[in-house]
Amino acid sequence: MIYLDNAATTPVDQDVLEEMLPYYNDKFYNPSSFYKSASSVRVKIEKARRTIAECMGASHRGIFFTSGGTESDNWAIRAAVEYKKDKGRHIISTPTEHPAVLNTLRYLESIGFQVTYLDVDGEGNILVDELEKAIRPDTVLISVMHANNEIGTLAPVEKIGQLAHRNDILFHTDAVQSFGKQRIDIDKCNIDLLSASSHKIYGPKGTGLLYINPLLPLGKLLFGGDQENGKRPGTENTAGIIGFSKAVENAFLNLEKNGEYIDSLSVLLREEIKNNIPGAVFLGNQDQRVPGIVSVLFPSLDSETILIRLDEAGIMASAGSACSAGAVEPSHVLTAVGLEAREAKRVIRFSLGKNNTKEEIMETARVLKDIFAG
Ligand code: PLP
Repeated sequence: MIYLDNAATTPVDQDVLEEMLPYYNDKFYNPSSFYKSASSVRVKIEKARRTIAECMGASHRGIFFTSGGTESDNWAIRAAVEYKKDKGRHIISTPTEHPAVLNTLRYLESIGFQVTYLDVDGEGNILVDELEKAIRPDTVLISVMHANNEIGTLAPVEKIGQLAHRNDILFHTDAVQSFGKQRIDIDKCNIDLLSASSHKIYGPKGTGLLYINPLLPLGKLLFGGDQENGKRPGTENTAGIIGFSKAVENAFLNLEKNGEYIDSLSVLLREEIKNNIPGAVFLGNQDQRVPGIVSVLFPSLDSETILIRLDEAGIMASAGSACSAGAVEPSHVLTAVGLEAREAKRVIRFSLGKNNTKEEIMETARVLKDIFAG
């Protein structure tokens, strides 16, 4: 089996799993309980928070554990607009965001907020001049993803952050696809809010974080007990948090090495496809991109047919993102970068990870050549 869908999710690393296991049985205690055994679990969670903060170059006071990227996106946007309610009700974002952002924005529009969705160019790049023009006196939030999950293009977060802060606007970035793969300087980029998820970096599913600038007294999404400083109630996903922390450590420790390796595999896959399948087009910005996402518009055959043929050969990839898999409508990201509906239905996203090998890439290229040979 060849797994080329690492942007959808990744397997849990063995050392991550080993760190997690005791917290399901021997150390199952509720971290909020009084006795010593429970306190040691609490200490471990706080250690996880500090480890992650250190890797990110952020204050541990800004790290809040959540159930994943979706919750973090919802919380970031809802809390930001509430905090800024006296300034206005205008938000700037892009049409290529993940549904966790887009559907939160749609809800806010339904209750009276206005959202400007910036046009992106054919590679999915945000035009900073357009962003500047979109800013209004009542703009309260800019929410722009760092790396696009379908085409891999990176956003110019430093420039966006500067503009946001010059204009007293909060800046949220959905970094679910870049976290642990691409360094991001939170202070230099003036990031107020950042969403990340564990299962994209060889950690467990159902765990993530929202970074909130500690200087901002933002409100909460969920109401309940005092966990996470009262900001994110609910008994902690102890094993998940501890696994996430180990996965973050692994990712940041090997960030450059893994990035270069995955990039070299991506280059190989692109070269092989280019040489064997005339007319294949590579989507997204080929320079400013997160390592590993190779999105290809094939010259013929719809993506379903290609995916079935790949699956028969033991190769797992996707059309667009996992979230839109099975959807009848063409991907909103692909139409936003200018593809016609019939073209968007011929796109396959290969997302490569650190466990892939050169042999797997060569085998994938061979199978693709066969598929397009007729
Ligand atoms: N944002 C982006 C860019 C994503 O790719 C994903 C997941 O695919 C999410 C948010 C949602 O994250 P989670 O699956 O942790 O809820």
